[in-house]
Amino acid sequence: MKIIFLGAPGCGKGTQARKLSEKYSIKTLSTGDLLRSEIKNNSKIGIEAQKYIEQGNLVPDQVINNIVANNILNLDRFILDGYPRTIDQAESLNNVLLDHNQKIDSVIYFIANNDILIKRICGRFSCKNCNAIYNKYFKKTKKDNICDQCGSSDFEVRKDDNEETLKQRLKIFNDQNDKLINYYQKNNLIYSIDALKNEGFIFENLVNYLDKLN
Ligand code: AMP
Repeated sequence: MKIIFLGAPGCGKGTQARKLSEKYSIKTLSTGDLLRSEIKNNSKIGIEAQKYIEQGNLVPDQVINNIVANNILNLDRFILDGYPRTIDQAESLNNVLLDHNQKIDSVIYFIANNDILIKRICGRFSCKNCNAIYNKYFKKTKKDNICDQCGSSDFEVRKDDNEETLKQRLKIFNDQNDKLINYYQKNNLIYSIDALKNEGFIFENLVNYLDKLN
């Protein structure tokens, strides 16, 4: 199972990736998470990536392509969350997999309109300990200030989850998305999901689909 999740920031793909990872014991590679951990470690890549991320721009293709190539080589099953975001990245991924006689099995496309995304992103916070994602409008913790998953009360808001940066992130997504969809549609790989449906419904839909794909 080698799967790509495509969708705008805030469409819920990170949450679903996490749930599917658990159900199928499959690794999720989130390029955003990988970059954020590089920033936390103050690495060379992290220092370079930070300026792009804080302005809502894409980190250069070559940097991200190398990170992904290094991380997927030993995985025979994975979900890619947030990659590829450009045609250059899609081609790099294709080539890395082809070199190992492998290919993508499916591209899941989460469809949502921009208005709802702004509310989802600007209300988003996550548990610092286990990364569970919440939202102050749509998905609060069950007990005030306590993570449902791990009980921690240490939460954080991403620096790039603000209205101004989000506008730029959505602009870039809208510029690139049709090209990516066309790229994968040529090989009949796209499975579309209505990202406005509730979390449980989307999860069941994905499980039904992936069980047939296996
Ligand atoms: P995300 O967590 O997927 O929303 O990503 C947060 C930020 O990390 C993005 O706004 C980009 O600046 C950067 N980033 C993540 N994935 C990529 C990628 N595939 N290509 C370029 N930049 C990326």
